[in-house]
Amino acid sequence: MIISLKRDVRREDREHLLSWLETQGVSAQIVEGQYQTVIGLVGDTAHINMDLISGMDIVESVMRISEPYKKANRKFHPDDSVIRIREGVAFGGGEFEIIAGPCSVESDAQMETIAQAVKASGAGVLRGGAFKPRTSPYDFQGLHEEGMRILKEVRRRTGMPIITEIMNIIHLPLFEEVDIIQVGARNMQNFDLLKELGRIDKPILLKRGLANSLKELLMSAEYIMAGGNERVILCERGVRTFETATRNTLDLSAVAVLHDLTHLPVVVDPSHATGVARYVKPMALAAAAAGADGLMVEVHNDPPRALCDGPQSLTPEQFDDVARAVRKVRAALVPDAEG
Ligand code: PEP
Ligand code: MN
Repeated sequence: MIISLKRDVRREDREHLLSWLETQGVSAQIVEGQYQTVIGLVGDTAHINMDLISGMDIVESVMRISEPYKKANRKFHPDDSVIRIREGVAFGGGEFEIIAGPCSVESDAQMETIAQAVKASGAGVLRGGAFKPRTSPYDFQGLHEEGMRILKEVRRRTGMPIITEIMNIIHLPLFEEVDIIQVGARNMQNFDLLKELGRIDKPILLKRGLANSLKELLMSAEYIMAGGNERVILCERGVRTFETATRNTLDLSAVAVLHDLTHLPVVVDPSHATGVARYVKPMALAAAAAGADGLMVEVHNDPPRALCDGPQSLTPEQFDDVARAVRKVRAALVPDAEG
């Protein structure tokens, strides 16, 4: 971090700043120019409050030269992280999986039908929300405990690992048999929730917030990792823009940028990104071609009657077609890629 001081700063004010910086556990190196003094901070500056410094009367500007995310940073962990869910199911470092299933768990029969279908089409992980973050309080909110029971039973019957969203940490005991815990876009910056998830030993799929930068996504991942849980999978699911033809705007460059900045795997969700079933396939193929480490696709046995997100849900037949095409793209990218 570099702090530039204003001109003609009084010596005692400067000394005061330097002694405060010392209490922050960083060492300050002073460069005195003819007109301006610059202070270079060396050490772990991640916890230093930049805004506090830039608000000081004697400070002209503050600049960070290293990123405040350490554990998620590729600089300190050059190799891709491979997040293993179970034998044969992993994300990152060349490992690729498709997560598929309905937006919400609706009934035993619905989950069973969809699970068998997506499994047969090659999906590695089954999704389904039991706690749904809906914009309207009058919309279907999920089956809660009953939904969790259904998910666990389908997991046992099909042998598929499951992913489902947590909205409140008080529900954590219900997530014991869940293989991946999802943090939805609306909770990406629920820092108390992230801190609690940092204390457990389970993979977390962290979705990008509706209007959050990639740096903010990485800082949220850092919250989880700083607590000791380093098994974080990032998910790009589109961001809000002025465009109305799609539900969100899929930021595919996120895949390339995140692979540059972090060692964590990156999954793309073309369903929430587009909101339209017929746009899911082209975006799934584009995501695979861009090097995503996985996909999350909503599939429903009867989309027009789905209790949530029917318009963006693929039928099992459409999903089968997408999964086949994605495998072809993967094979073209990495000639010996599987799955
Ligand atoms: C979901 O995956 O069911 C979901 C609610 O997605 P998002 O948080 O990306 O809106
Ligand atoms: Mn959904």
